[in-house]
Parts: sequence; C-alpha cells; structure tokens
Amino acid sequence: MLPRDLKYLVVGAGLWGGVLAERIASALGERVLVIDRRAHTGGNCRSFIDPDTGIECHAYGTHVFHTAIPRVWEYVSRFTRFTPYRHKVLTEHRGRVYPMPVGLAAVNMFYGLNLRPYEVDGFIRREAAASAGGGEPANLEEKAVSLVGRPLYEAFIKGYTRKQWEKDPGELPPDIITRLPVRADYNTDYFSDPWQGMPERGYAAMFDALFRNPLIEVRTGLAYADIAGNIPPACTVLYSGPLDELCGYAFGALEWRALRFERDILPYRDAQGTAVLNQADVEIPWTRSHEFKHLHPERGPQGNRTIVAREYSHACLKGDEPYYPVNTPENQSLQGRYRALLAEKMPRVVPGGRLGGYRYLDMDKTVDEALDLFETLRARASGENCA
Ligand SMILES: Cc1cc2nc3c(=O)[nH]c(=O)nc-3n(C[C@H](O)[C@H](O)[C@H](O)COP(=O)(O)OP(=O)(O)OC[C@H]3O[C@@H](n4cnc5c(N)ncnc54)[C@H](O)[C@@H]3O)c2cc1C
Repeated sequence: MLPRDLKYLVVGAGLWGGVLAERIASALGERVLVIDRRAHTGGNCRSFIDPDTGIECHAYGTHVFHTAIPRVWEYVSRFTRFTPYRHKVLTEHRGRVYPMPVGLAAVNMFYGLNLRPYEVDGFIRREAAASAGGGEPANLEEKAVSLVGRPLYEAFIKGYTRKQWEKDPGELPPDIITRLPVRADYNTDYFSDPWQGMPERGYAAMFDALFRNPLIEVRTGLAYADIAGNIPPACTVLYSGPLDELCGYAFGALEWRALRFERDILPYRDAQGTAVLNQADVEIPWTRSHEFKHLHPERGPQGNRTIVAREYSHACLKGDEPYYPVNTPENQSLQGRYRALLAEKMPRVVPGGRLGGYRYLDMDKTVDEALDLFETLRARASGENCA
C-alpha cells in the first residue's frame, strides 16, 4: 500500500534516484518512497563482497568515480571518502599488451619507434593521410581511419567495435566518434578529471549512506507496474526506468545493447595485473575482463586467489538488462515521441537517469542532472506552498 499523502515516489534506487531521494528528504524535509525492481540498491553501480574470497566485485562492470564538476565532488564526498585510485586500462592485441587510450607509449610500442611528444601529431597525421580515401567519411571505419590511420584502426578499433556492436564498423554511422585523441605523452591515466577514486568502503556503503535519512523508505523487489494504479494523484513520480516500458511500448521498443559477465575465482594472487584489460582482437569473444581487487590496491593483496569477470556484449532482448542505448536517428526520434506522449498523458512523471533519459551518462553527470532537477522541484514546491 502507498500512503495517500505521498508527495514523492522515486522509481529506481540507482544514483539518479538516490540523489533525488536524499535531496527531497534532507533539503525539503519531505517523505519519499524509493522502489526498485531489483533486490538491491545502487543500480548499476552496485558492488558486493564475494563471500568466498572477501573481494569486492562490481556486479555490472567496473565503476570508477571521476569528475571535473566541483559541486558533484563536494556532494558525493558527503557520503563516502574516496581512495586516490587512478584508473589504467590496457588492451591486448596479437599477444601484446598496450596502454589505452592510445598515447606515446602505445604508438611507440606498436610501430617500434621512439617518437618524442612533439613528433606524435605529425606522425599520426601522415599515417591518416596515407590511409584515408579522401572526401567525407561515410561510416565509422572511414572516420576512424581518417583520424588515426589504418594500422591503428585495424589493431585497436576494428575488432573491439565489431564485438561491442555486432556490426562491422563499415556499417556503423561515422558520428559515433567525433575525435580519437592520440595523447602525445606517457600519461596512461584513463581519465583526466581532477577528482577520481573509489569509495573507500565500497559502493554499497556509499548507497547506504545516501539512503540513511529516516524520511526515505526503500522497497526493493518492487516494480513500478506493480503500484502504478495506486499512486496518489498529487504524487510526483521521478522515474529512472526505461521510457518505452513506461509508455507500454506504444511506438515499439527502443534499442539497447546488453552485457553478460562470466565471473571466475582463479587460484592466483594476480591474474592480469590491472583492473581492466580490453581484448582488441575479434577472435577473443569477450570485449574486456575485470579483475576487481586491483580497484583497491590500498587493501593489499587480498589473499592468494582473485576474481576475474569477462564481459560479453550482445543485443538486448526481452528480459535482458539494458546497458547502452543505440544512438541512431531512428531511436532518437522514437524517444522524442515517447517524451511527448509522457508530457501529454503523465505530466507528474519525470523521467531521467540513464534509462529514463535514453543516454549513456557517467556517474558524475547523473549526479549533476539529479541536482539540477532537484532545484526545479524545490522551486516548484516553494511555489505550491506560497499559493
Ligand atoms: C558497463 C558500464 C560501466 C560503467 N562504468 C562507469 C565508470 O567507470 N564511471 C562512471 O562514472 N560511470 C560508469 N558507468 C555509468 C553508470 O553506470 C551510470 O552513470 C549510472 O548507473 C546511472 O545511474 P541511474 O540511476 O541513472 O541508472 P541505474 O544505475 O541503471 O539505476 C536505475 C534503477 O532503476 C531500476 N528500475 C528500472 N526500471 C524500473 C521499474 N520499472 N520499476 C522499478 N525499478 C526500476 C533498475 O533496476 C535500476 O536499479 C558505467 C556504465 C556501464 C553500463
């Protein structure tokens, strides 16, 4: 049963819903009910301690917090301390391992050169000019080749892209990528944001802190459809589920990519030497593997065993968990139609987050957007109180 005077219902106990619930409870002093159809809070950021090894695993793939937005860093730091972890990603290609994104170390290793920083740009431009066909690139392959040249494209982009999208890059639109920066130094940090790190006690503890306010009630294992008919008319619904599902798939399904993880406990103290190892070659069916203990070097070796999860990408079918939106003009126009339908038929439902917005959003952008939306809700609430 839902309280008849409920003013705020948050659908989805992920980061977007969590920030909104916390703000409504702490800054407006209002009760808020949060539901999630999964059995846990945290959404895709969820981490848990593996009972066999004590290693913290990320249930939906490695999540590293990073941001350049001061208010977001200040906000999330209220709920956890962060370790100074700096994320590195390596890519295996034909039995050799290169640092990613492509920078001076990767270029020099790949070509067997010893270029200096001031020589890299010119070198890549000559490589690109030697490979490009001239004219406007018509697809992702032509675009990538025009940016970095064919050898780097064939090594690091072609196979990985094919595995990720199950399509040849020649069949994908060119605007999936706008730039492929090749770094002209030996910095191998994956992210360049000034604030980066891992929640010291894990994401689960961070979400527990986010939901700690007694004005917040969290009910897991409960889907929106189960209660949609009982929502009080004056209740604002902040919805971070899929848009098409909310609208009963009236215009058809939005397209998503899904992921599958195969997790193994291995009898090694260290199996791959880093948290994330990409597999660039198409013959290896997984796109990357995650060795979670490397996300927390401050915890020491964490025993003589390790956990590695291999990540496989596939089309999202009914019943699969959606991960990445497929950003085609058709899907964008479909989501526009769903938004218009929602505004007309369900004006008190506000969609957002990665599913409700049908966009890939990093965690910091998710927090930023939720904070913006909260300011709109606060202004509306103070208008209603004055009226
Ligand atoms: C593989 C992968 C790796 C990533 N790595 C990073 C990273 O390293 N750094 C970073 O900044 N970002 C990363 N992200 C992005 C990050 O996951 C998102 O920013 C974040 O999860 C968005 O939060 P959200 O609340 O919008 O969505 P979610 O976390 O998906 O939460 C939405 C919740 O709503 C629930 N829900 C959906 N529909 C319903 C319904 N009808 N009824 C009830 N509940 C419902 C879902 O069960 C889910 O728990 C990654 C994303 C992916 C896919």
